[in-house]
Amino acid sequence: MLMSYDVIVVGAGVAGSSVSYYLAKAGHKVFLLDKCEFPREKVCGDSITPRGVRILEDMGVVPKLEGRFKETKGVRIYSSKGGCSVTDFPAYKDYPRRGFVAPRIEFDKILRDHAEEAGVYFSGCSFVTNAVVESGRVIGVKYTSDGKDFEETAKFVVCADGASSTFAKKVLNITKDDFRATGIAIRAYYEGVDDIDDYMEIYGEDILLPGVGWIFPQGNGVANVGVGIYLDDLEKNDCSVTEILDRFVNSSIHASKKLKNAKRLNQVVGKKLYMGGIKKAICDGMVLIGDAAGLINPLTGEGMMYALESGKYAAEAIDSALKVNDFSEKSLESYQKNINIFFNRYFSFGTAVVRFAKKPWIVNSSINLIKKSKMLGELNLRYWISIN
Ligand SMILES: Cc1cc2nc3c(=O)[nH]c(=O)nc-3n(C[C@H](O)[C@H](O)[C@H](O)COP(=O)(O)OP(=O)(O)OC[C@H]3O[C@@H](n4cnc5c(N)ncnc54)[C@H](O)[C@@H]3O)c2cc1C
Repeated sequence: MLMSYDVIVVGAGVAGSSVSYYLAKAGHKVFLLDKCEFPREKVCGDSITPRGVRILEDMGVVPKLEGRFKETKGVRIYSSKGGCSVTDFPAYKDYPRRGFVAPRIEFDKILRDHAEEAGVYFSGCSFVTNAVVESGRVIGVKYTSDGKDFEETAKFVVCADGASSTFAKKVLNITKDDFRATGIAIRAYYEGVDDIDDYMEIYGEDILLPGVGWIFPQGNGVANVGVGIYLDDLEKNDCSVTEILDRFVNSSIHASKKLKNAKRLNQVVGKKLYMGGIKKAICDGMVLIGDAAGLINPLTGEGMMYALESGKYAAEAIDSALKVNDFSEKSLESYQKNINIFFNRYFSFGTAVVRFAKKPWIVNSSINLIKKSKMLGELNLRYWISIN
């Protein structure tokens, strides 16, 4: 069969734009589809930490972010009774010592445009409904656009369609029991937030545990404010996402002081988090990256750095496979291996810490300890932001 594209990428979020960029740079013909037109909103905390910045540097996109988005220089962690620890992003290997808080409505368009500039062909308002499978190999996608049905083929399909991803999971036989959402993250934007500066702020306050709250500064008193909790706890408490966020804003010990004069700028939105990765993210002709593969850290809820990096690993594997005309699952094994090596230990660590940190006294004493030692603070932060 004559295929028009080397690679079809489904979803133009951070993962999809990353893999598309790297493939186009390597000289491949890439078709990137998204159900939305850009700019589009994506519910997120908007915070990118040094490992994410490192890959954005590699993509050459950082100059487009500088001066436009708030830069952060470290993390402040509050606990109810253990006080507050402040740690700058540590000097470690080649990781930059800065982060960004980049509202996704703007950030994702910048990345999508960057991929287009590298030669990617983009189609918005194109909703992928299914994979095209021939003799067990994925060879394309079916999609609808402007009320019409289309089918497009390619040598590889990359599934980067985020947490709502369904069609690839059908192909891989991943059921809801195999991989279910365990968390939910809730956020809104606020203006008039007092006493915030260049630090990301995380709140491990007793009323939220084992969840956390955050205030991520965007400059001029505007901030992305949110809460990440476990779905079980939301169900146990039987309350709405707005009630959960309001509890953090009004009743936390530390955050409520900064938020008492603040005004909410938009609706509170919560989205489920599929965390910790899926066991197998490859099959003949197809690879899953970013949230579609569950690449979110169970401790922090961070997913952008893994989405960006998984895009690069997938592009490397596909590039090698295309060079030898091998479209089998085996040709994508280096991708699966990289995920296992570079992400899984942080996911396992995150899962273990969350279990351990359910009790307020543990969190309070840990912060009390960490705040007294620069070395412990940096070690903690390095695990938190996956740079070890
Ligand atoms: C409230 C909240 C706060 C968070 N905070 C942070 C944070 O501060 N830092 C961080 O690093 N991570 C955070 N995350 C996680 C982060 O948002 C995700 O890990 C990240 O967006 C994953 O990127 P992605 O490209 O895989 O998916 P997405 O960014 O979700 O992109 C998927 C794309 O696919 C498109 N799409 C979906 N289905 C189809 C289809 N059928 N056909 C065509 N297109 C389709 C969508 O329109 C979308 O553009 C947060 C998540 C939530 C919910």
